[in-house]
Amino acid sequence: MIEATALMKYYGQVRAVHDVSFSVDKGEIVGLLGPNGAGKTTILKILTGYHYPTAGVAMVNGYDVSANPVAVKSCIGYLPENAPLYDDLTVREYLDFIADARKLTGHDRVNAITRVLKLCGLETQIDRPIDQLSKGFRQRVGLAQAILHDPDILILDEPTTGLDPNQIQEIRRLIRTLGSDKTVILSTHILQEVEAMCDRVLILNDGEIAASGTTEEIGRELKGEKVFTVRIAGGSLSDGARQALEGVGHLVTEPIGPKLRIALAEGRGGEDLFRWAVDNGLIIGALIPERYSLEDIFTSLTAAGTTGAAEEALP
Ligand code: ATP
Repeated sequence: MIEATALMKYYGQVRAVHDVSFSVDKGEIVGLLGPNGAGKTTILKILTGYHYPTAGVAMVNGYDVSANPVAVKSCIGYLPENAPLYDDLTVREYLDFIADARKLTGHDRVNAITRVLKLCGLETQIDRPIDQLSKGFRQRVGLAQAILHDPDILILDEPTTGLDPNQIQEIRRLIRTLGSDKTVILSTHILQEVEAMCDRVLILNDGEIAASGTTEEIGRELKGEKVFTVRIAGGSLSDGARQALEGVGHLVTEPIGPKLRIALAEGRGGEDLFRWAVDNGLIIGALIPERYSLEDIFTSLTAAGTTGAAEEALP
């Protein structure tokens, strides 16, 4: 559905995006995550046909964005970083204006406006001037304009920036609802946003993709170890049990109460841990595979500026 190949973007001498390739399948919600200036907005502007890449190709819904920007714009909904609203119009007038721009007429137009008002919870605000709306409602109006023509693809640039915690929850819920039948790519520098909404994440740093995948996949790739939290329900970790652990894995940190964190040796699985426990008089009450938090991953990839140097930061 979206295919970016070797994208490059220079603004004069400024290198904003360097050799970025990725694809997004139909129905996925993918997050572009990165610190300020990482190149997120630039990539979204390329995908939406607002900027040409300096090199590389972006295909959206089968169209080359550089060659067919108008065709691309007709099948995407775009919410830029600052929602493009006309403050002196009411919500109704504004959506009418967008319906004109999208060439919606007759029943289709009425149905489209009714649908987005309901979906975005804007029915009570319809006759209010946009400059009197709260930030949360303004963002909903921005989303309403993005989905008015019922596009297959939604591209959202930092959709929750500047909202209060309640508004953030509402907009995230709305995006998840929209994501149930659309392909969504959104940018954010809020880690929880990605964990709360996205199937997959592309972590950008300094214009390049530093990692991509689910948070578990990225964590595994970075660390190359499978870590389990093991709760011991019977027995105690004797010196003999510690010694016997060699070959199966190693303690990641010293035990806290009955909780052990054990990284498995290559080729070993959870069943080896059970066998080790039984052989050493231990009863395992719970065996929980650890996930790296996105925060761990993000910090490790972006804080030190290079992937290799940052691996040290992982737990
Ligand atoms: P933020 O989270 O702060 O919005 P971002 O990840 O979206 O950042 P971009 O806005 O894509 O990053 O910017 C990437 C780089 O390109 C930055 O160094 C930025 O200063 C530069 N840049 C962006 N737009 C322009 C422009 N129009 N002219 C010159 N440089 C630009």
